[in-house]
Amino acid sequence: MRGVLTAVGLAALALPGPAQALIGYGITMYDPSCGFGCYDSVSGYMLECSVMDHGPVGAHSHGAGGPTSPECRASDTYFLTTLAYCMNTTCDASTPRWKLEKFWSEQATGSKTVASKWSYAEALAQIKEPPTDEYGEDDHHLTRTVLLDAETVKANTLTREYFEYAEMIHSRYGLVLLIVGFGTPVVISIFTRLPYMSSLADKLKPYLVYPSLIGTYHVRPLPYLLGNAATVGQSLYVIMFAALNIAMAAAGYKSVQPNAWFGNQWQEVMGYFSARTGVLAFALTPLVILLSGRNNILLWATNWSHSTFMVLHRWVARIYAAQVIVHSIAELVLYIDMGSYEAEFKTEYWAWGIVATVFACAMLVFSSLFFRRWSYEVFLIGHIIMAVFVIAGSWYHVEFLFSRKWGYEFWLYAACAVWFFDRVIRVFRILKNGPRRAVVTEVAEDIVRVDVKGIRWTAAPGLHTYAYFPALSPWRPWENHPFSILPTALLQSKREASLSGAASGSDTPSNADVEKSGGITSTSTPERDHQALGGASGTGITLYVRKSKGLTKLLANHNSLLTLLDGPYPDNPTDGVLKSDRLLLIAGGVGITGVLPYIARHTNVKVCWSVRALAEGLVRDLEGPLSRVAEKDVRVGSRLDVAALLAEEERTGWNRVGVVVCGPGGLCDDTRTLVTAKARTGPTVWELEVDAFSW
Ligand SMILES: Cc1cc2nc3c(=O)[nH]c(=O)nc-3n(C[C@H](O)[C@H](O)[C@H](O)COP(=O)(O)OP(=O)(O)OC[C@H]3O[C@@H](n4cnc5c(N)ncnc54)[C@H](O)[C@@H]3O)c2cc1C
Repeated sequence: MRGVLTAVGLAALALPGPAQALIGYGITMYDPSCGFGCYDSVSGYMLECSVMDHGPVGAHSHGAGGPTSPECRASDTYFLTTLAYCMNTTCDASTPRWKLEKFWSEQATGSKTVASKWSYAEALAQIKEPPTDEYGEDDHHLTRTVLLDAETVKANTLTREYFEYAEMIHSRYGLVLLIVGFGTPVVISIFTRLPYMSSLADKLKPYLVYPSLIGTYHVRPLPYLLGNAATVGQSLYVIMFAALNIAMAAAGYKSVQPNAWFGNQWQEVMGYFSARTGVLAFALTPLVILLSGRNNILLWATNWSHSTFMVLHRWVARIYAAQVIVHSIAELVLYIDMGSYEAEFKTEYWAWGIVATVFACAMLVFSSLFFRRWSYEVFLIGHIIMAVFVIAGSWYHVEFLFSRKWGYEFWLYAACAVWFFDRVIRVFRILKNGPRRAVVTEVAEDIVRVDVKGIRWTAAPGLHTYAYFPALSPWRPWENHPFSILPTALLQSKREASLSGAASGSDTPSNADVEKSGGITSTSTPERDHQALGGASGTGITLYVRKSKGLTKLLANHNSLLTLLDGPYPDNPTDGVLKSDRLLLIAGGVGITGVLPYIARHTNVKVCWSVRALAEGLVRDLEGPLSRVAEKDVRVGSRLDVAALLAEEERTGWNRVGVVVCGPGGLCDDTRTLVTAKARTGPTVWELEVDAFSW
């Protein structure tokens, strides 16, 4: 196999300049194959100028290696006449003369930089009498124009043809994977927007989009932190894509025996298979990176959520790693079978292939939920560094073998382009928003409000931003975290607005149903309100952050905290729920920030919100916007009864009810399960969006 790869690599040198596309799509490898077939058949013969003690006569030298140098061939009369005669008698009329001339000028000596002493026409003109015999056993070197064995020429020609065909199929199937992987979300999104499709979508959603594949697990991790279960629809994408990968790795092989490069059919097909899986892995690289990106074209072109793309990112990455592993194992098995393992093991391309494979496997392990939970920041930095090793390893792997002649590197360039595009747009967004000074206010024991003045973003719901607080993490200034966006103007209202019942906290904060009206004492002061709301204008955004164990733990009262914002980004699509007759907003704790922007976008809204008694300050802080919501069920210290809430909406008789839930995993998963069950039984049509604050 090494011989094959060397042959492919050296033959590549015959091409002028770096490749411009993929094999079969802009790049041809061995055209005209008859020319290569003749060259392969004569290039092993010893010439007068060959180095006699270099190796056995007839060795398969393929160019610069072996006893015969390109310079030697370039000046050897009988080598050139034998090659020219073979080409003239083997290549049929379908091969235009210019192709033969071109082949001759670039490939006749085995090196594009060494020109033969004659052109093709001149070499033919040297042949006065057609040759009558072949190179014999008694010949020590080529001393006349000889006939080449027709069977050998045919085998060499077909070897090259079939190899090139296999390579073309690799490229084609790689493109198929990329197009299907990328195109499926786009096509499905377009499909759901076509006329008359909405009723079909309504029927399918409770079976495909809403339910989880494994019981009631989706946001909550599976037992033993095995990961997060995908929804049925997400699973179908993954199953379809995995099956397509298997089909693309298994189909489309053509074998030709006898074969100049592979000793038997098993080796030949194994050689193609190992190359196929390598190319398919390369083809998946841009898709894997795209799916994880913030600035992901698919987020703009489809109505799929960011969290769905993160699920797909993980699964497509697993499929990618499977292709890498299969590629490496297949090559290993093949080399051992061909007896060339020892030689391969010492090469640079092999070492870089191992680097890429090992890091791809390490990424699988270190991306598990266990490590993401253990330390998200360590996971993230490690993930990026390991990805760099995978890409660099892959690049050197093909660079050492093919010197950028066959276009494999274009898959990697595409992957890098996707990654850099995302990063550059992030920087642009941060620069556009500019450095800001935020007012941080502790509103509850573990919740802070972050008001960032002067930012004018659309007040649309379903958006989040990534906030940097470099002053809090001077050793990791790049650290940033996603938070839902509230337009500060939404919070402006009369502070005397009231919430109901025990939500006031001054009465009985726990187990209190604060629906309807009641007194609540605001902890806000006019000064702070003014400051926080961005002065007179009130322009700006507000984040409510529940402190966790990392950077957010450091957020405390501050009048002027340096803040950078990368955003806004869409998270969940909002069209479906906003078109409902009724909008039920269900929130747990700080999840209120994910649902509150909807109140300004829908006229028939009910807000149901439960918070721990300790977070009662948050309820008071949001008293203003909540006071404008006619129907609400705010509970401090007690849980919402989601089943009862849904039943009530159903009883009321709305045709279409949109449910948006944002909060702890249990609340999100329960709501998903209950809405799914209701949506299957009708007659009410249910739209569901789950914003879980986690990916
Ligand atoms: C779309 C979205 C919107 C969110 N909106 C809000 C909000 O409005 N208010 C709020 O309090 N919280 C929100 N969160 C959650 C918030 O991002 C995390 O609580 C925060 O990142 C934790 O930071 P930490 O370093 O203090 O936490 P750590 O204690 O280090 O991590 C706790 C957990 O937070 C998650 N996390 C940490 N860093 C990131 C990151 N960079 N990207 C994604 N997840 C991360 C991980 O699951 C991790 O296990 C939102 C999350 C998402 C994905």
